[in-house]
Amino acid sequence: MHEKGLLIVLSGPSGVGKGTVRKAIFSQPDLDFKYSISMTTRTPREGEVDGVDYFFKTREEFELLIEQGKLLEYAEFVGNYYGTPVDYVQETLDSGKDVFLEIEVQGARQVREKFPDGLFIFLMPPSLSELKNRIVTRGTETEEIINNRLNVAKEEIEMMHLYDYVVENDQIELACERIKAIVVAEHCRRERLEPKYLKMLEVK
Ligand code: 5GP
Repeated sequence: MHEKGLLIVLSGPSGVGKGTVRKAIFSQPDLDFKYSISMTTRTPREGEVDGVDYFFKTREEFELLIEQGKLLEYAEFVGNYYGTPVDYVQETLDSGKDVFLEIEVQGARQVREKFPDGLFIFLMPPSLSELKNRIVTRGTETEEIINNRLNVAKEEIEMMHLYDYVVENDQIELACERIKAIVVAEHCRRERLEPKYLKMLEVK
C-alpha cells in the first residue's frame, strides 16, 4: 500500500499575497503537489475562469453543498462564501499525492481540527503598512472593502499560533522557495517515516 499524501495549508491575512504566491508555486514545472480549486459565491474578477481559479457558485448552490456535507471547510469572508471540496481532497490524499489549499484563516482552523497531521503554513506580510499598500494597489476593491479587509487582517495575524511554520512574503520567489523547502522537510519528519522504516526491521 502506498503512503497517503500530505495536506498542505497555506493561509495568512487578507492581502498578504497568498493567491500570488500559490500561483507562482504552481507555475513551476515538476511540482509534486495538487492544488485544490475552491468554491466561492463571489463574482469572478476580470480574467478569472470558472473551474480554473474557482468554481463559481450561487449562494443557493453553495448552501446546498454545505447541507450535503460536500465541503471540508467553508467560511464567509467579506460577504461571500469560500469553501474546499472534500471529495477532491480526500481522493487525492488517498492516491498518495500531496494536496495544497490556499485559504483564509477561519477555514484553516477548521481544517486543523479535521487534519491535525496537516502542514500549516502562515504567510506573513513584512509590515502592516506594506499590507495596506498591497490591498490598495490591488485596485479592484472599494475604500470600504479595503478598510474592512485591513481590520480583518489584524485579527487574522493573531491566529498565527495555530500554524507550524511562518513564511514572510518579502519577495514572491523567496516565499515560494521557503514553502517548497518546508514541504520537503515535512516529508522527512521522523514521526512520518519511522513506521515505514521500523517495518524494515520486521523483514527477516
Ligand atoms: P479572493 O476573493 O481575493 O480570491 O479571496 C479572498 C480570501 O478567500 C483569500 O484569503 C483566499 O485565500 C480565501 N479563500 C480562497 N479559497 C478559499 C476556500 O476554499 N476556503 C476558505 N476558507 N478561504 C478561501
